[in-house]
Amino acid sequence: MTEHLIAGLRQFRKETFPRFREHYQRLVEEGQRPTTLFLGCADSRIVPDLLMQTGPGELFIIRNMGAFVPPFEPDEGFHGTSAGIEFAVLTLGVTDVVVCGHSHCGAIGALYDAPNPHTPHISRWLTLGNGARLEGASPTPEVLRETERRSVALQLERLLGYPMVRTRVEEGTLSLHGWLYVLEEGRVLGLDVETGAFVPVGED
Ligand SMILES: [Zn+2]
Repeated sequence: MTEHLIAGLRQFRKETFPRFREHYQRLVEEGQRPTTLFLGCADSRIVPDLLMQTGPGELFIIRNMGAFVPPFEPDEGFHGTSAGIEFAVLTLGVTDVVVCGHSHCGAIGALYDAPNPHTPHISRWLTLGNGARLEGASPTPEVLRETERRSVALQLERLLGYPMVRTRVEEGTLSLHGWLYVLEEGRVLGLDVETGAFVPVGED
């Protein structure tokens, strides 16, 4: 396994890095100035830079289980995702936030399982998706796909609970986008907040 990764690294150093050398040099000298915060699931099947054909310096990426947005809670907890949101919005001054869920998300599926006492961090984390669950429903593929969509809307709503996000959205300097990446189709559906429907993005 490691051999495969090292072979990839070797290829990166030999072929890819030389092509980007000047670009990296500029990014080091001028610092990063990404315009988009991409908040996605940690699932290994999601490759944001492959999906959007972006490169070094373009996306500020936060990934966690389920692409969940925790509530704004300035307490003593270790809030990695929240810290990233603050940094992207206040320090980097991104103009767009994409919250991207995906089909066949394990975190969404787990919302329908009984909490496992051996994984307290997971159980606690997953409560961030509870509002998307269809109560009383069995986790059929249709229910799961619907829950994935509802979760994207729920996380966007929670993002608006961050004062610095709400302020910039109201000022018109920050746009929020809810996406659902359909793994098996290689397409992205975007939430239309007016209608609540998910419509294809980037297919024109
Ligand atoms: Zn996932």
